[in-house]
Amino acid sequence: MPELAEVEFFRKQWDPGLGQKVVTVQLHPRKRIFRGTDPRKIVESLPGRRFLRSYARGKRMLFEFTGGNWIGLHLGMTGKLRTEPAGFRPEKHDHFVLQQTRQALVFRDARLFGRVRFHQGKSEPAWWRLGGPEIASAQFDRHFLDAFLNRHSRAPIKAVVLMQDGFSGIGNWMADEILWRAGIEPSVRAGELSARHRARLLRETRFVASEALRVIGPAFADPPPDWLIHQKWKRAGVCPRHKSRLRKGTLGGRTTAWCPLCQKK
Ligand SMILES: [Zn+2]
Repeated sequence: MPELAEVEFFRKQWDPGLGQKVVTVQLHPRKRIFRGTDPRKIVESLPGRRFLRSYARGKRMLFEFTGGNWIGLHLGMTGKLRTEPAGFRPEKHDHFVLQQTRQALVFRDARLFGRVRFHQGKSEPAWWRLGGPEIASAQFDRHFLDAFLNRHSRAPIKAVVLMQDGFSGIGNWMADEILWRAGIEPSVRAGELSARHRARLLRETRFVASEALRVIGPAFADPPPDWLIHQKWKRAGVCPRHKSRLRKGTLGGRTTAWCPLCQKK
């Protein structure tokens, strides 16, 4: 499941098409990535429109075209964006393709959990404005964090850090990374976190989000070698700090790894 930094990486993959018109749209109209959207409207409306700019918010992307045309994209589990040379012929899983004179902008999604939305209007669609603040923004502060933790006080903190209206763009691996750095045991209830742990949670959420964006965003590079993610999926993964075995379990429905020495209950 793509997280914040991967979404930012994929958003930029369509940059070669910026400032240029869409010539034709090719799509697979019956695929469920178009749920809630009429794909015929996209096919009719986008040709002749210029690709102006794109935005990422958490795990979502928005692409703006002239004439008040907006495409929203969610990558789901397996969605990917890429650019192909002009004359590109879509393959089986390339469900949404914008052909331009010089290149083709391609959205591929093998498992179809992704989503394509379409909006027409002078300003961004209402669904784009929904959701919590970006982690890099000033609104993601201690006041917001405290209110969010209190609202979900009975849930394990791991599950809370996965909630998109509070921790925008944070997915499973980043959540484990944040809790490990903050020294918080993942099954602790959100409402039971001490003031010290809340301060660390805020700091490490900002740190992991900005570092992931810096390292992964531009070129899909690996996070630094001393990050937990490199150990998490190993059968005998160890804490990067203690070199002792990580514990694993399921929390918030997701595989979770933590170090019992760094993260005491
Ligand atoms: Zn440790």
